[in-house]
Amino acid sequence: MTPAGISQSDLKLALKAFGDAIGADNVFASEADQLSYSDHFSPDESRHMPSAAVAPATAEEVRAIVRLANKYKIPLWPISRGKNFGYGGAAPVLKGSVVLDLTRMKKIEVDVESGTVLVEPGVGFFDLYDYLRANDIPLWLSVPGNAWGSVAGNALDRGVGYTPYGDHASRICGLEVVLPDGDIVRTGMGAMAGAPTWQLYKPGFGPSWDTMFCQSNFGIVTKLGMWLMHEPESVLGYDFEFDKIDDLGWAIDTLMPLRRDGIIQQSPSFGNWLRSAAVMTTRSQWTDDPGPLKESVISAIRKKFNIGWWSVQVRLYGPLDVTEATLKVLNNAFNGKPVMAMKPARWVKGDAPEGSPFSGVPITFPLANANWYGGRGGHTGYSPVLPTRGDLAMDQFRRTYALYQKYGFDYHASFAMGERSLTNVNQLLFDRDDADMMQRLDKFFRELVVDAKAKGYGEYRTHIEYMDVVAETYDFNDHALRRLNERVKDALDPNGVIAPGKSGIWPANRRGERS
Ligand code: ADP
Repeated sequence: MTPAGISQSDLKLALKAFGDAIGADNVFASEADQLSYSDHFSPDESRHMPSAAVAPATAEEVRAIVRLANKYKIPLWPISRGKNFGYGGAAPVLKGSVVLDLTRMKKIEVDVESGTVLVEPGVGFFDLYDYLRANDIPLWLSVPGNAWGSVAGNALDRGVGYTPYGDHASRICGLEVVLPDGDIVRTGMGAMAGAPTWQLYKPGFGPSWDTMFCQSNFGIVTKLGMWLMHEPESVLGYDFEFDKIDDLGWAIDTLMPLRRDGIIQQSPSFGNWLRSAAVMTTRSQWTDDPGPLKESVISAIRKKFNIGWWSVQVRLYGPLDVTEATLKVLNNAFNGKPVMAMKPARWVKGDAPEGSPFSGVPITFPLANANWYGGRGGHTGYSPVLPTRGDLAMDQFRRTYALYQKYGFDYHASFAMGERSLTNVNQLLFDRDDADMMQRLDKFFRELVVDAKAKGYGEYRTHIEYMDVVAETYDFNDHALRRLNERVKDALDPNGVIAPGKSGIWPANRRGERS
């Protein structure tokens, strides 16, 4: 299989040239290779099947591959570790693209005092965690829920974590990027050769470009600077449980001023009962009924895990004097309100490590939720961004919940509080062996996007299958943002060789392939 417009013989020539440049052992083009780089969570995996993968080990090798890709007009799809499950894994938007696998690039440079790291794309969260622990470095990571991806790839896709450093893209400081023509650039202070401030000062001189390489196809990041948190003296907080559906509204309004004003520095995330149940159990352990889960089943789940309709975990980080004082503020905010339970959480330096993402420890077991329906499971994310208002969150919940019921899926949602916004991450869990379910899933997703758009809400991130669908909703002035993105794309990448279709941005030579 080749990308549209590329002949099998040209692809073969290009793969041969890639092998000559970086070693034939680093080019993977068998059927098994294609399958191992495809997205097993796609509604239809064949639509995004890569033709091959190529794995350079240095920025110089990346440049060599990019120059050859221009010569043969071969689209490349860069990945760091390719674990972006729910959003496409390692697979490209455009079928037949060659995956540019950067997992062999694994260098780590830490500046302990400043709390910064410079990573290459192949550095996974576990790699960096192990490095910090092995060298006894008192820095904490911020890790996403499933942490087997890479530090760089996750930040570039605007992944999030649980500590005060949980907005990963906002902690990027300085990039090295191979541009689509093979030029190599360092952003921020890195633009000055040898500057010791590359990972310290984000803006640099003149325009700042770091965010331009997030969720984009304007270049291939070969080094990424990131700020890390020094191990705090204490982490205090509560695990809150709320009994009633409607509690979500007032609970958000209670926490919102504390989050907005920086009293709470991490992003608390409200989640419903299925968040626990889908990780710890499978659906068949509760019911054989194919329809939406009955109230009696929901009650049984809640009873077994001793949880509310909604749960949220709030954590405060810093010197004990500060966290204890702030805990009082948090207590006062909920004083007299109908909270079902507030379980205290307390970790102080010297205690055994808590071992959770709240203290930057990478874990992977939450991916077990893909087993919920049985069969070959999977999930995809539907994640619109809302204002931080309880009434709007309740309205969003009701509309989305009704659509889950309409399409026969079990409701699995969270509302994560940013400083000024609320991201409503919904997991659509599925069984790929259930053809009827997969058909419903596609219609369900599209209706969710339309439903959010009617309220003026757009997704913050989406699966490769739906990048055009979501980009279409960003429609001010007849899609002026898309026109801007594509003008930049054409200027930087006239042959359209880097990730065509990413985030709905298509190069001039492939614009007709927009779905
Ligand atoms: P992870 O393995 O950390 O989950 P991925 O490698 O799957 O991350 O990448 C997530 C997204 O970011 C993908 O869409 C990918 O194309 C993009 N991306 C990842 N690494 C790079 C990179 N080094 N340069 C440019 N884009 C990247």
